[in-house]
Amino acid sequence: MSGGATTTDAWDFELELRSDPAGAEARTAVLDKPGFGQAFTDHMVVASWSADRGWHDQKVTAFAPLKVSPAAAVLHYAQEIFEGLKAYRHEDGSVWAFRPERNAARFTRSAQRLALPPVPEQDFIGALRALVTVDEVWVPPTGTGETSLYLRPYMIATEAALSVRPANEVLFGVIASPAGAYFETGPKPVSIWLTTSSIRATPGGTGAAKCGGNYAASLAAMAEAVANGCDQVAFVDAVEHRWLEEIGSMNLFFVQADGTVVTPELSGSILAGVTRSSVLDLARDLGHQVEERRVSADEWRDGVRSGKITEVFASGTAAVITPIGRVAWADGDLVIGDHTVDHGVGPVTATLRKTLLDLQYGRVPDTHGWLTRLA
Ligand SMILES: *Cc1c(COP(=O)(O)O)cnc(C)c1O
Repeated sequence: MSGGATTTDAWDFELELRSDPAGAEARTAVLDKPGFGQAFTDHMVVASWSADRGWHDQKVTAFAPLKVSPAAAVLHYAQEIFEGLKAYRHEDGSVWAFRPERNAARFTRSAQRLALPPVPEQDFIGALRALVTVDEVWVPPTGTGETSLYLRPYMIATEAALSVRPANEVLFGVIASPAGAYFETGPKPVSIWLTTSSIRATPGGTGAAKCGGNYAASLAAMAEAVANGCDQVAFVDAVEHRWLEEIGSMNLFFVQADGTVVTPELSGSILAGVTRSSVLDLARDLGHQVEERRVSADEWRDGVRSGKITEVFASGTAAVITPIGRVAWADGDLVIGDHTVDHGVGPVTATLRKTLLDLQYGRVPDTHGWLTRLA
């Protein structure tokens, strides 16, 4: 049944299953070497919203190009938000999401900031379940390491109108892409370019929302990082150009010699990562002192020089926990940690990473109640 959902009924997804799904051979070829974000499953979720009808026409349909007007507001004014989370195959074959209610709630907050209509949070999770149920064969099998099915919910303003105002027609969708281990041969420290010439987010701006515009604005700084021989870029605050905020798409953590785990406090211009919040909880579980507070770029550099900071890492759904082995800036650089042992991955970073992955893949009991079954 389609179109029948009102604000109180859960969404019903009409199933328009494709008659030409990928064959087993083509699918296996993808699942053997998934990469990241290049191959997509057979189906996708779409739902429409209009100011007069609300949400309607929710369906699971063939993965295919969208038909939008060249005048669609999203193409001109970037009225867009997205989410990113993974579906994990467990040993018994079942498929689970990690804290999807957090992504649903963040999607609501992002929608509010971008003047888009909220998706009811249970229907956001319902959409993930509808797609994963239909395309379950695309969830990589266990035993192949850190593979998963990456889920990408998004919302765009589709109304054909060049006047600047919140659009009256919107599309919500979910696509899914098999994902390989981010680090194919085990975690490897990345290098970070500390930029002070580009700012990612400003007080009162959209930094706390997960919107494409933030990423568009960060790409030049990313290119600057690569031009300076680094893998990723770290941003400081917009007002004093001094306080660390985050890496382009990951939150930032420091481990001190006394075991304290420190991360920049959510200032309003930092994206509240689900991984960030989980790392803080797990660090506490493991007996670490945890601090959310302002951290300056000088504290980072001085701490590495003096030995007070022993490990630095970044957190995010895609790479889970990424060790940081070097920081460089306009007139200097520093190596972090001992690169002669464990490939330069510090013990606290390694333990937190393993603890989180064990939970996500169901290898240890889910004592926090963080897992939701999708299929
Ligand atoms: C998505 C995102 C993160 C990480 O969030 P997770 O929920 O942990 O995946 C961090 N920073 C930015 C800017 C992001 O968009």
